Amino acid sequence: KRVPIVIANWKLNGGIDLLCTSVAAFIGKHFSAKIAICPPYLYLRDMLNFLQHSEIMIGTQNVSKYESGAYTGETSAQMIKEAGGSLCLIGHSERRQMFHENDPSCKIKVTRVLNSGLMPVLCVGENLQQREAGITNDVLFRQLHDALDGLDLGDKRIAVAYEPVWAIGTGKAATPEEAQLVHEYIRSELTVLFGKERAESIHILYGGSVNKNNAYELLSQTDIDGLLVGGASLDPEHFMQICLHA
Ligand code: 13P
Repeated sequence: KRVPIVIANWKLNGGIDLLCTSVAAFIGKHFSAKIAICPPYLYLRDMLNFLQHSEIMIGTQNVSKYESGAYTGETSAQMIKEAGGSLCLIGHSERRQMFHENDPSCKIKVTRVLNSGLMPVLCVGENLQQREAGITNDVLFRQLHDALDGLDLGDKRIAVAYEPVWAIGTGKAATPEEAQLVHEYIRSELTVLFGKERAESIHILYGGSVNKNNAYELLSQTDIDGLLVGGASLDPEHFMQICLHA
């Protein structure tokens, strides 16, 4: 099985206090999973400095689709790479819902991030209405193909995070079986896109109300290769428990 990846998505939370307590909790620890933290952009450098001798990777929650130029307020993939980042979340449902992110912009961002030598983590997932209408796979098909079709991966790494919108911040996680079914479908589409061997090597993470009580069972599923953790990652002790389980 693929070595699990556990990613903390702080969203617009935390400050110097959380940064310091997280660093203190994680420094010098060894994990069998790969661990990454995605703080707000502003804390990227400080986190990297504090964690430079640790095993923890740092990522961002978003990235600009532009390379450089007159794009006020943007941060480029190249800048994140230069700062020492390892990965970028792309197309998180909150970005899709509130900041007009769509599949074509995800595709541009995935390409930029790959070209900068970072790992894109493409976030996909259906909302409650779509799930109840029985069109979960159709939604995922479009999100995956519109963002990844025709992409030449070479030996570059990419990950997908399945985050059902109805499970985000609701305390109502998908059951391990529910999630596994969708992950299996995602892997079958990755096989169509990149071939079997490549698809087998791609990490598919689950996100949505992950906590220390459900993390282990989710990860025990065949196609669940990691976790994307929101709320529970804001408590360093809690997040540590998830990382130690993984
Ligand atoms: P919660 O873990 O708070 O449900 O958030 C999930 C998420 O959106 C991670 O990206």
